[in-house]
Order: sequence, then structure tokens, then C-alpha cells
Amino acid sequence: MEDLKKKISKIRENFSNDLDKVSSEQELENVRIKYLARNAEISNLMHEIKNLSKEEKVIFGPLLNELKTNSEKLFELKRNQIVELKLKSAQEKKQNFDVTAYKFSALKPSLHPYTHVIEQIENIFISMGYKIADGPELEDDFYNFEALNIPKDHPARDIQDTFWLKLPHKLMRTHTSPVQIHSMKKQKPPLAIFATGRCYRNEATDASHDFVFMQAEGMLIGKNISMSNLFATIKVVLQMIFERENLDIAMRPSYYPFVEPGVDVAMRCPFCTSGCSVCKKSTWIEIMGAGLVHPNVLKHCDIDPEEYSGFAFGFGLTRLVMLKYGINDIRLLNSGKIEFLEQFK
Ligand SMILES: [Zn+2]
Repeated sequence: MEDLKKKISKIRENFSNDLDKVSSEQELENVRIKYLARNAEISNLMHEIKNLSKEEKVIFGPLLNELKTNSEKLFELKRNQIVELKLKSAQEKKQNFDVTAYKFSALKPSLHPYTHVIEQIENIFISMGYKIADGPELEDDFYNFEALNIPKDHPARDIQDTFWLKLPHKLMRTHTSPVQIHSMKKQKPPLAIFATGRCYRNEATDASHDFVFMQAEGMLIGKNISMSNLFATIKVVLQMIFERENLDIAMRPSYYPFVEPGVDVAMRCPFCTSGCSVCKKSTWIEIMGAGLVHPNVLKHCDIDPEEYSGFAFGFGLTRLVMLKYGINDIRLLNSGKIEFLEQFK
């Protein structure tokens, strides 16, 4: 009898001590298995009831029951505490995200391929006397279309699937050309600017299309600016970008509403001499659109087309970066993947 009494109080004490030490779900489960599961200490003790005499049962029955229900109650209380703690710590982790927890030694810092190429090209244009210009990504219809000689009913608006905002006439710019307008509105000629920036088009994403991409844009406005200035500038710039002497370029007539005449510029493939996968075996790569700034565009910016002329060119900076580094999936560029970025030192 005394023996059983001692056993009960010993179990009660041990259970309480063990439960106090619990601080995780796993430890809680260990306590359950030790005391409360089938064939665990308390259940085994309950089985001993049937070996007791009637008188003993009267004494020990309630004692054992009390031990069982009390232990289960304490266990439930502890379980609630543990769940609450877990939720709280998850919340704290979210709220108090420790930015210093990153170890610098573990990360190898590197610049994004965009940054590498932008710095290189900007330096080329700065050395030629151009100013680096910038413009907003959230644009007005006037700057993105109207002033660039793309009026409301112009078919060129159809090929630019535009993200329109709910605000009237506001959109995410579909090209960097509005920077030309901003620059001409701010400053009178002579004027030479170069700009890079994000553009947005509402299209499905795949390895070669993204709804956000980078473009670059250059413009020179002055007196007696002609196509030959354009050819010479583009040739020198491409030679410097691809680090080639005498890189051949070719122009063929093309149509862009904001230039007249307009051309598409191709360059000799810098990666091969007799055709490769980059140039699709043709040895030529289409690289940009260009032309002389349309008189209507100058007029929209209060510049007299009788007095001034200029050229403009634009190219896909994203495409150029992909070409230069042999990147085959556009989505990698905005993925933020460390393994991808680490490759560009
Ligand atoms: Zn090639």
C-alpha cells in the first residue's frame, strides 16, 4: 500500500519536473510518450488497480484517477504554452528581422550585369560629351506617345501593349524615348543625352520576354546634324562596347514614328566569323533602331525644325546584356538569384 502511494507521488513529482523543463514540441512529445501514452508510466499504474483489493480500490482508485486527469490537464496547459511561444517567436522573427545577421564573409559581393554594362556604356557617352539623362517610369500619355509623334489613333500604339493606370492618361512607360522629350523640354539645343531605364509592356513572360526590361536611348540635337553623324556615332560606340576595331555596321530603312528617316542598325557578329547560334548563322546581329528626330517631335518640344535637327537611337539594353554575357533566359536578370549574380565580377 505504502509502496503504491510512494509510486504515485514519485510519478507526480517526476512528471511535474519533466514538464517544467519542456521548451519545444519535441520535448513535449517525449514527456507524453514517457508518462501518458499507452504503456507509459501513468497508464501502467492505472492497470495495477485491478490487482488491488476492494478496500484498496476505494482509496487508490480516486488517487490514480486524480493523477491521470491532473497530469493530462497540466500537459494540455503546457502544450498551449508551447504553441503560443512558437507563434510569438515566428512573429518576432518577422517583425524584428535582423539585417546584420548576414555574414559578409559568406557573401561574395558583385554588381548586377546591368550595372556593369550601364557603367561601361555611360562612360563611352560621357567621353563623347553626352550628358546622362533620366526620366520617370510612370509616364504621361503626352511624353510616352503624343510628343513622340504617336497620336491617339496611330497604329504604333497597338504594338505596344501598355500598362495603363487608373489615373487619366497615366501609364508605365513602354520605352525610354520619353526621356528625349523631358530633356528637350528642359534644355534648349545643342543637346546630347544618353539614358537607360526600365520599361514595361503588358506581355506574357517566357525565356525571351519579360513585362519589365531595360532600354537605352541616345539623342543629339544641334545645327546641321545628319545621318552621317548618326552612323559615325553608332559605329564608334558599338566598337567600344564590343571591344572590336572596325566592327562593320549596316543600316536599312525602317519605320519608327518619332524619326524620319528611320533605320534599323545591324552589326557584324562579334562572336564568330562564319555564323554562330547568336547571329543565327547570318553573321549579322540587329542591334538598334535609329534615325533623324522627326520634325513633329521637335515642334512638340518648342524646337524649330528649320533651325535644328538631330538624331536619336534606342536599343534593348536587356538584349545587349544577354548577348554580351550569353544569358539565355531573360527572367534570370530580375530573379535576384545569388548564384546567378555571383558570376558577374
Ligand atoms: Zn555569330
